[in-house]
Amino acid sequence: MQVVTRFAPSPTGYLHVGGARTALFSWLYARHCQGKFVMRIEDTDLERSTQSAIDAIIDSMQWLNLSWDDGPYYQTKRFDRYREVINQMLEAGTAYKCYCTKERVEALREEQMKQGLKPRYDGHCREDHSEHSPDEPYVVRFKNPTTGVVAFDDMVKGHIEFQNSELDDFIIQRSDGTPTYNFCVVVDDLDMGITHVIRGDDHVNNTPKQINLYKALGAKVPVFCHLAMILGDDGTKLSKRHGAVSVMQYREDGYLPEALLNYLVRLGWSHGDQEIFSVQEMIELFTLEAITKSASGFNTKKLDWLNAHYMKTLPREQVAAELEWHLQRQGITDLSTGPKCADIVAAYCERCHTLKEMAEKARCYFEEITSYDPAGVKKWIKEGSVDILKASLEVLSKLESWNSQAIDEALEQLAKQKEVGMGKVGQPLRLAMTGTAMSPGIGDTMMLVGRERALKRIEQAIAAFA
Ligand code: GLU
Repeated sequence: MQVVTRFAPSPTGYLHVGGARTALFSWLYARHCQGKFVMRIEDTDLERSTQSAIDAIIDSMQWLNLSWDDGPYYQTKRFDRYREVINQMLEAGTAYKCYCTKERVEALREEQMKQGLKPRYDGHCREDHSEHSPDEPYVVRFKNPTTGVVAFDDMVKGHIEFQNSELDDFIIQRSDGTPTYNFCVVVDDLDMGITHVIRGDDHVNNTPKQINLYKALGAKVPVFCHLAMILGDDGTKLSKRHGAVSVMQYREDGYLPEALLNYLVRLGWSHGDQEIFSVQEMIELFTLEAITKSASGFNTKKLDWLNAHYMKTLPREQVAAELEWHLQRQGITDLSTGPKCADIVAAYCERCHTLKEMAEKARCYFEEITSYDPAGVKKWIKEGSVDILKASLEVLSKLESWNSQAIDEALEQLAKQKEVGMGKVGQPLRLAMTGTAMSPGIGDTMMLVGRERALKRIEQAIAAFA
């Protein structure tokens, strides 16, 4: 049997961390089993679904590199299919038209509540409604079994049972003809051949209704796997209060997709005490059996640690591609005016926590220096600094090859000659190159600035500090 999983977000907002974890687990399981991963947009709630949410979800999935084999399907484009199944069910007698007025249903509910009962439809229209004319408004209800239990063995939560007497004949088509959520999910999962439903545990209570629908349609029930929720650092449900929760906000904040994926996979899944997993490794090792039962806690420090790890260890070009996005985001549109981004990554990956920070620090390689950090100037520009800058200019303009080792050596020699520490040579030059007193080794910094521009910047600093 080929494993088919899906991710089925409702596009009512951005893709948050919880949704991304669900997507990742579904994707990983499909990839682990060499199965298929389906993307489905559950946009039947017309009032709450928006195009911008759809775009944000798709962008996030693409950024995380969670590619689908099928879809995206849109529920709003499948209304004919839902109607077809509803008609089949009406004919088969597994669903029925209900003409009860809102008032009747409301009165029933109030009465049940008064008696301390769980409100549920009483099946009034189940059998005979011959007295109704075809133009009267009606909803379609599912004929839920009245006795027995609905049971399933959840891959995470274990055996779960519901009494059918607890469930009611829920509406599958509203009076305006639109199908309802639980019904669409089942028709979709069936049509798309879903074998494993992996989703958040907020859907456990929908599962018995869905299982009864599968059975009524004579279909095989998929395997269910309900993931425990994610909690914030303080043990409460993860929300905006805990900082960034949208996947794209993590991108904005300068995290690498590899770091976020690695972080997410550990939220509710483990493999011994291993913390670092490449995507390939996740695919190889991921099983549903190893998903943890308890809620997982979000820990920003760990995400930062993983981000630092991946900035240092991923191929430079890969990190550079993400850095380019940040530079452009920060208004540097013409990247040809600066060094290769992979060289920036090499020089800065140990010095930054995020790519956003790296891009901020790298601005000086693409834009002219228009000011100098006053604290840096106060600390490092002293009597004699201008002379040292002048001497550096002379030495450096004679350098045969412009590489960081040659630059460093020439400046060390100069420091010796002038009988000053390297700081007195390097720091004014750093200010000249970057406008700040902080940058990688001075040789690397000047390499990134480039020969011609570096010499010009020294001249500019001489004029500014004289
Ligand atoms: N659309 C649902 C949600 O976003 C998911 C439904 C499902 O996975 O069955 O919560």
